[in-house]
Amino acid sequence: MDQAEWTDAKRTALAEVERLRAEMAEIAHDLHEHPETGWDTPRSAGRLADFLARHGFTVERQVAGLSSSFRAYPEGRFGARPAVLFLAEYDALEGLGHACGHNLIGTASAAAGIALARAMDAHGIAGGVYVMGTPFEEGGGGKIVMLREGVMDVGDFAMMWHPGPGVSASSPNIAAHMMTIAFSGRAAHSGGRPEEGVNAADAAMITFVAVNALRQHVTPDVRIHGIITKAGDAPNIVPDKSEIRMIVRALDHKRCLAVVEKVRNCARAGALATGCQVSFEDGLTFYERVVVESLREVGLRNLELLGYRRPAGNPQTYVSGDGGNVSHAMPHLGIGTPIDPEARAVPHTPEFARATDTEFAFDAMTKAAQALALSALDVFTTPGLLETIRAEHREKVSA
Ligand SMILES: [Zn+2]
Repeated sequence: MDQAEWTDAKRTALAEVERLRAEMAEIAHDLHEHPETGWDTPRSAGRLADFLARHGFTVERQVAGLSSSFRAYPEGRFGARPAVLFLAEYDALEGLGHACGHNLIGTASAAAGIALARAMDAHGIAGGVYVMGTPFEEGGGGKIVMLREGVMDVGDFAMMWHPGPGVSASSPNIAAHMMTIAFSGRAAHSGGRPEEGVNAADAAMITFVAVNALRQHVTPDVRIHGIITKAGDAPNIVPDKSEIRMIVRALDHKRCLAVVEKVRNCARAGALATGCQVSFEDGLTFYERVVVESLREVGLRNLELLGYRRPAGNPQTYVSGDGGNVSHAMPHLGIGTPIDPEARAVPHTPEFARATDTEFAFDAMTKAAQALALSALDVFTTPGLLETIRAEHREKVSA
C-alpha cells in the first residue's frame, strides 16, 4: 500500500504544524491553568476558536444550541466534499483539572485543521476541512447533540487524538449511559418522631445493595458505578432527599440500555422498601466505537511515518467517549500516543493531570496534529481509499 509515503503535501503539513508549535504549547498550557468543566466552558472554547480565526478560519460559535461549541472551516472550503472533521475537546474533570488531556486534544485538532488546509491549498487538493468544537465530553456528550442537530452533516469522516499510556489507533471501547436517580421522602425528628419519617438515604443505600446483587447476573463487560451526591444534612433529621449519580457501561449501547433498566428497578426497590418517591433523569448514551480497520490502518501507517512503533494488537478497552456516537454516523479514527517518557500515565489521575502540562506532552501534541493531518491527506489523495473506508463502515454499522 502506498498510502503512507512521504509526499510534498505531507511535508507541507508537517512543517505547518511545526510552525504552530509555540502557539499550540501556549494554548494547551493556558487551558491547563484555567480548567473548565461541564457544558459551559466558554474560555477554553474561545481560546481555540480565536486560534482558528487568527489563522484564517471562519468560526461559527455556539452551534447546535450549545453555549461552548463551535464549527470552524477555512475560507472558501465550506460545503466542499469529501470533508474531514477534526474533533476538538477541551473540558476538564471535576476536581482533577485537565486529567484527561483535553487541553492537548482540542489544540491538536485545531492545529491539524489549520495545517491541513494550508497543505491542501498549497498542493491543489480538493475537499473540506472542519474543526468541530465539541463541549463536555466527560459525561455530557456535546458530540451527540451536534450530531443530532445536523452540525456534523458537513463531514464524511472524523478524526481525533487522545493521549494515553501507549500507541493505539481506534481501540474498541464500550458504551456508557449516565443517569441521576433522586429519592424524595419525608423529614422528621430522628429521635422524637422517627415513625413519621420517610428515609431517602435508606432508599439510596438499598439501591446500591440491589445493584451489588445485580452484578452477579450481568456479563463481565458490564460496569455499574455510582456515587451518592446527597443523603441528608444532619443525623438528627430523617433525610427527605437523596441523589445518586450512576454510570452503566457495556460492550454495546443496546446491552447497556438493557442493564440501565435493571438498575432502575434496583432504585424502584429502594423506593418501595422505604416509601419514597423515585425519579430518574437520564443523560445521553455514549455509543461504543465502530472500528473501521481500513481507516485505522491509515492512522497506524502515519504514526509509523512519524517514528512511533505500531502496537501489537488492538485490545478491547473499557472506557467510553461520545466520539463513539460519531463513529456510528461516519468513519472515525481515534489515534492515541503517550505524553510521558515512560508511556505510563493513565487518564483520570492526578499524575496524568500533571503530565498534560509538560514539554514532552506538547511534543506529543505536535506529533499528534501531524499524524491527523497526514492521515486526512491520505484519505483525500489515495484513489479509492475513501470508498473502501465507507464500504467497511457501512458493513460494520449494519452488522
Ligand atoms: Zn478524554
